[in-house]
Amino acid sequence: MNPVLPDSSGERLVALLSDVLGAAGDGIPLHEPSFQGNELEYVKECLDTGWVSSVGKYVDEFERRLAAYTGVTHAIAAVNGTAALHVALLVAGVRAGDEVLLPALTFVATANAVSYCGAVPHFVDSCEQTLGVDPLALSAYLERIAERTPEGFRNRITGRRLAALVPMHTFGHPADMPALNGIAEKFGLAVIEDAAESLGSQIGSRHTGSFGAMGVLSFNGNKILTTGGGGAILTDDPVLAARLKHLTTTGKQQHKWEFFHTDVAYNYRMPNLNAAIGCAQLESLPGFLEKKRRLAAAYSSTFSGDGSFKFVVEPTGCSSNYWLNAIRVRGADRAQRDALLTAANEAGYWCRPAWTLMHRLPMYDDCPRAELPVAERLELELINLPSTPALAERLKG
Ligand SMILES: *Cc1c(COP(=O)(O)O)cnc(C)c1O
Repeated sequence: MNPVLPDSSGERLVALLSDVLGAAGDGIPLHEPSFQGNELEYVKECLDTGWVSSVGKYVDEFERRLAAYTGVTHAIAAVNGTAALHVALLVAGVRAGDEVLLPALTFVATANAVSYCGAVPHFVDSCEQTLGVDPLALSAYLERIAERTPEGFRNRITGRRLAALVPMHTFGHPADMPALNGIAEKFGLAVIEDAAESLGSQIGSRHTGSFGAMGVLSFNGNKILTTGGGGAILTDDPVLAARLKHLTTTGKQQHKWEFFHTDVAYNYRMPNLNAAIGCAQLESLPGFLEKKRRLAAAYSSTFSGDGSFKFVVEPTGCSSNYWLNAIRVRGADRAQRDALLTAANEAGYWCRPAWTLMHRLPMYDDCPRAELPVAERLELELINLPSTPALAERLKG
């Protein structure tokens, strides 16, 4: 498809990666965790005291520190980001038979969490600048398909209620939350941010995950901060916070010895062991962010002179955590993209494509969707580059 993408592009990509990262040696992974702080000390304390499971001081401490760091009043820790998304959607009022709007360009967990509620994912297009949900396209689309009813807006084609919007901050780059919140308000949609990738990213001086009614984080092993497995929900609403805590802890009523449960709820609470690692990782987060931004700056300047590859930079007015660095290969088709991925991986630089778009997955191929011209182009053009913070130490100069 791309007449200007030369056959030697694979060699060129490897040369540029080598300029930034040096020789690949035994291979440079896409993203590795780093435990250089108090992780061992805090975990040992859990083991020594026996507080290893879903009750313990580190869970509460991790929640306090997360809330303080992101500027919200409440953080509720969970076993993973997917579980956190699931309960956030439930608490937002998403019910079986509803539709939930989300980007086609996302990790499958965003759509799966909607399905766990018995609701139907409804895919919308992405924006060139942010890689997140495109507010202009979304607004025009909803004007066409949304119909006001006494219970809120519904999809006039399927007849199902439009319950919520789940924007996702792709690779850590913030979606345009002020604009998306405005559209959601107009169409009566609850907003849950999938901020799984964007801890440390800000729009202006405000953290991603704090713009919606709720924001969801992930601390999986490949994220900027890891607890092994883990997630959290951020909110400023004390009623939602209480409900989230209740539903993630089996719906048990507080009592000294009696077991009384009020709902079919979930065992989604983060164990103390994982939270102990999280507390130590949060102490290291400013250092991770600084290294990631240095690595991104090095990629940016090295790739800037190239006609075929465009390094993805943070949107205007935003500060990104650069969780996964990415380039766009202008006009690439699937064969060209895969040839580049093969060349980079064979040379030891672990590069990856963006996710297969949600509507191409077998379980989601009959879900409602908008026109997706930008997402479909991004799917072919995006390539993620090695992004481990410690790689900043290999940079020349
Ligand atoms: C990682 C991730 C999740 C899910 O988090 P887990 O902790 O792995 O369950 C959800 N959404 C996005 C966009 C993610 O990248």
